[in-house]
Amino acid sequence: MTMKTRFAPSPTGYLHLGGARTALFSWLHARKNNGTFVLRIEDTDIERSTPESVNAILEGMQWLGLDYDEGPYYQTQRFDRYAEVIQQLIDQGDAYYCYCSKEELDTLREQQMADKQKPRYNGKCRDNTEQQEGMNRVVRFRNPEEGEVVLNDLVKGEIVVANKELDDLIIARTDGTPTYNLTVVVDDLDMGITDVIRGDDHVNNTPRQINILKALGAELPRYAHLPMILGDDGARLSKRHGAVGVMQYRDDGFLPEALLSYLVRLGWSYGDQEVFAREEMIELFDISKVNVSASAFNTEKLIWLNHQYIMNAEPELVAGHLEWHMQQRGIDVATQGPALVDIVKAQRERSKTLVEMADASIYFYQDFTEYDAKAAKKNFKQGTDEVLQALLDAFSELSDWQGDTLHALVLQIAEQLELKLGKVAQPLRVAVCGIGMSPSIDVTLALLGRDKTLLRLQQAINYIKENRS
Ligand code: GLU
Repeated sequence: MTMKTRFAPSPTGYLHLGGARTALFSWLHARKNNGTFVLRIEDTDIERSTPESVNAILEGMQWLGLDYDEGPYYQTQRFDRYAEVIQQLIDQGDAYYCYCSKEELDTLREQQMADKQKPRYNGKCRDNTEQQEGMNRVVRFRNPEEGEVVLNDLVKGEIVVANKELDDLIIARTDGTPTYNLTVVVDDLDMGITDVIRGDDHVNNTPRQINILKALGAELPRYAHLPMILGDDGARLSKRHGAVGVMQYRDDGFLPEALLSYLVRLGWSYGDQEVFAREEMIELFDISKVNVSASAFNTEKLIWLNHQYIMNAEPELVAGHLEWHMQQRGIDVATQGPALVDIVKAQRERSKTLVEMADASIYFYQDFTEYDAKAAKKNFKQGTDEVLQALLDAFSELSDWQGDTLHALVLQIAEQLELKLGKVAQPLRVAVCGIGMSPSIDVTLALLGRDKTLLRLQQAINYIKENRS
């Protein structure tokens, strides 16, 4: 049988890091085993599910490159099927109507708590065969009373739960809508899921789900429950830890490849290797090697990893992502300046994120009328206009606009004027970039091109003259 995994998020917020890690592990497990990966949107909680969240999940999956072979399926489109299965369970005696009122159940719970017992349903309606139409009623699953559920979790190992620990859970609410444990079971069954990979916050649901699956005569899937992710401070990862939606990481200048490489190490490792190409990740991943203990999120390490990718990935790939950041800054790279691939090559050593790279590259595309105040004060001095004029004259004559020729020319001017190279190159940099930092001056000038360089030199000369006190 083909292996089939699924990612089954509830669209009640962004695709957060924990969800993305679950999606990644399910995707890797399927890809590694030539299986099928399904996306299922668990949107039955109508109050909390929103179309924005659905879009955020789809967008996040796409940005991360976690492609799915089936879906997205939506649980809200499957209510008829859930009703059918609920009826089937009632008909075969594996579920029953429960008429206990909320007050009754509250009293029961209080009594149990007072007696220091685990709150659980007492089975009052279990053997009630009278059907009372029109009354408020829920449907409960008739959990077996004897025996135990044995779960061989691919991550956690063997988990054994006695059936008497599990009470009869509600599978349909008073309005007839199905509950989470029922819909998951029906979907995993109907969709032929062979491997359920999810966060270990669901591990307590699994024995209940197994019992429902057994009642439906289903073959059981394998289960893998992933350890939780902690924040830098050791607390469970949450919104408090800053950027938790994956698209926020795009906005903050991370490459999806870097985030994936980072996420895969949250719970899984291959020796000390930190940087994984997508294909390599698929080849090496092994769900049975996932750690049992929680893993901690470390922003510093993610930034380091991002820089590694920016420096070492194919410049074309980095450029593809950088383009989005340039667009956010109102820059149309197709018409306004140098090829982004060349920007990546020039800036990648000094940019830990694409935000840094984009911010530090704007002057290649956009003209400016103001200079960084500190850089201007330090570099535009009495007589600097003459240095810039000498450069402008020399550059105007130059027919071959190449890095090495430009470099030789700047050196030559410095010699002629009997100035150190820095005294020429730095004012030149501020004149053409507006700021005091850029790639080496020859690379900067080559990327800027002749027209922008000459124009900006003239503009700086005028500026210095006008501001002479
Ligand atoms: N929809 C559930 C959640 O988002 C996941 C259910 C599952 O993976 O079984 O937590």
